[in-house]
Amino acid sequence: MTRQPLDAVTSVSGAHFAFTDRWGGVSAAPYEQLNLGGAVGDDPEAVRTNRELAAKSLGLDPADVVWMNQVHGPDVAVVDGPWRSRGTGAVPSVDALVTARRGLALAVLTADCVPVLLADPVAGVVAAVHAGRPGMVAGVVPAAVRAMIGLGAEPSRIVARTGPAVCGRCYEVPEAMRAEVSAVEPAAHATTSWGTPAVDVGAGVHAQLSRLGVRDREQSPVCTFESGDHFSYRRDRTTGRLAGYVWLD
Ligand SMILES: [Zn+2]
Repeated sequence: MTRQPLDAVTSVSGAHFAFTDRWGGVSAAPYEQLNLGGAVGDDPEAVRTNRELAAKSLGLDPADVVWMNQVHGPDVAVVDGPWRSRGTGAVPSVDALVTARRGLALAVLTADCVPVLLADPVAGVVAAVHAGRPGMVAGVVPAAVRAMIGLGAEPSRIVARTGPAVCGRCYEVPEAMRAEVSAVEPAAHATTSWGTPAVDVGAGVHAQLSRLGVRDREQSPVCTFESGDHFSYRRDRTTGRLAGYVWLD
């Protein structure tokens, strides 16, 4: 199948937001085709090629894309360039990256979790955030916004785009877990299409951003669990990872 590797690219005042889908790469099943995750069992060479293909289709140098070692926590790293040394120990375990360096692209990997891309084009500050259920509850999105503010951003100017993620009608959880999440973020309270307790992480993320004063927000309508064009961990378990990229001219 020949498809553009990119699900959607949008630009606002020189800030660029991109989300991949699963097509346009070289990985074999069950990671076909554009797996961008390096820790999911895929051939590292295929992942490297896929990252190059995706970067080039965005007009980016693959060396200017910063990745993170995501651990479902609340920690944020402020970066001003690619990690200096290679290898797993060199990449910090955080779930949000923030930069004020124009031309540097920040990337977030997901397969059901919510990829959150943020930009204040006036201040020249961007952030990429991995917000799954634990991260949303732990406040990684507000932490990223605070780090952006620390670099001169203002919430009223921040543009927020969230990418394909499992929707609240598909993300079934035990009743106790829904209660626990809802106690922290009531907007995340949901019910599956088959009538059982669920969590809507995307709704939770957008409620958090709204309370922080971020008004320009858009949410992808794509549910990864329902879409055959996207990787879904809950659906397939052994599968690839999608990526979201944000950068400034
Ligand atoms: Zn769904």
